[in-house]
Amino acid sequence: MPHDSDHGRTVAPQGSRIDAYVDRYAARATGMVASEIRALFAVASRPEVVSLAGGMPYVTALPLDVVGELVADLVSRRGPVALQYGSGQGDPHLREQICDVMRLEGIDAGADDVVVTVGSQQALDLITRIFIDPGDVVLAEGPSYVGALGTFSAYQAKVVHVAMDDEGIVPESLAQTIYALRTAGAPIKFLYTIPTFQNPAGVTLNAARRQQVLDICQRAGILVVEDNPYGLLGFDGEPMRALRADNADGVVYLGSFSKTLAPGFRVGWALAPHAIRDKLVLAMESAVLSHSTFTQLAVGEYLSVQPWREQIKTFRELYRERRDAMLTSLDALMPTGMTWTRPRGGFFVWATLPEGLDSKALLPRAVAERVAFVPGTGFYTDGGGTRNMRLSFCYPEPDRIREGVRRLAGVIEQELQL
Ligand code: PMP
Repeated sequence: MPHDSDHGRTVAPQGSRIDAYVDRYAARATGMVASEIRALFAVASRPEVVSLAGGMPYVTALPLDVVGELVADLVSRRGPVALQYGSGQGDPHLREQICDVMRLEGIDAGADDVVVTVGSQQALDLITRIFIDPGDVVLAEGPSYVGALGTFSAYQAKVVHVAMDDEGIVPESLAQTIYALRTAGAPIKFLYTIPTFQNPAGVTLNAARRQQVLDICQRAGILVVEDNPYGLLGFDGEPMRALRADNADGVVYLGSFSKTLAPGFRVGWALAPHAIRDKLVLAMESAVLSHSTFTQLAVGEYLSVQPWREQIKTFRELYRERRDAMLTSLDALMPTGMTWTRPRGGFFVWATLPEGLDSKALLPRAVAERVAFVPGTGFYTDGGGTRNMRLSFCYPEPDRIREGVRRLAGVIEQELQL
């Protein structure tokens, strides 16, 4: 192998899979590792595999021809604006419309406090960038969204999980964790929470606990980052009141059109107190100058001319039917000792295998039987989740979900007999 004499490094030949730059990356790059979901996509996308793994919204349910016309019309009518650079904070009219969307969850906010981002994933990145120095602590539910955990680790944050049950974060656990960390002198920067139809657990923080979580964080002076991409996808009743609706100063709210419209537009947002908003805009400008004007205006047009509330209702009904297919099949087919959550919205069921089984070890056997899921360990930073799996019901048709659960139940039965 050739040798780079200046740096005493071994240089891999071109085309080799050995990374020749391995000892030159910044320290933060060591925290950037491929998620377990990513590795799975290649396998799970084979047509014979029923994928209960990915969290892809069912965009086929959109009126695609109408969206197409709207986009074409946008270019011919407003091309010089739509194809131009825009403001770092985002299109002012879209930010007004975003405030209308948030009103459905009890949030009364002005467009001036909204920053449009490239999906809520970028909002997570920006928030982490402006708050986290290496070693700072982020509190997060255990389990938590794998994409957020990846971002936190890319900025070398230490994630400390807070216990969660079927009603969301356990307030006592939150208070104890804060106390223990503070006693040990650890700098806690924020609580990251997905209070409604959580990814991956599918559970929702109940109303009483919402107030308790806000009180605990306010008393401790800890910022709350409320990530809420699924809030409008509830299967019964009115949308839950957002945490941000009851605390404007201590909560940064992250929203997204990825699940209520389509993730391909990559339009999300952060709603933040003024000072944080200013930092977010600066961070946004340094990252990408401005979001795509084109997709912002396309989403704005869609919200102006399309019955978007009706479309969300269509999505809710579609996902409800799929949730029912999954729960009914799990109830009918899974062996004793297996448990799972019963989501009232969103995309995910979180299952716990019978004692003694390991979900990561089970995955290759499941894939051999043509069904895929996400093993639980990726949703923890502390080695938790070995007996858990995330089962998504958002993408496959109900019959495929039933078939997928049947295959999975067979694999688990077999494993129990070994
Ligand atoms: N937060 C959570 C909890 C998510 O599940 C997702 C997408 N799976 C995101 C943020 C990012 O979504 P987007 O960037 O598409 O808005």
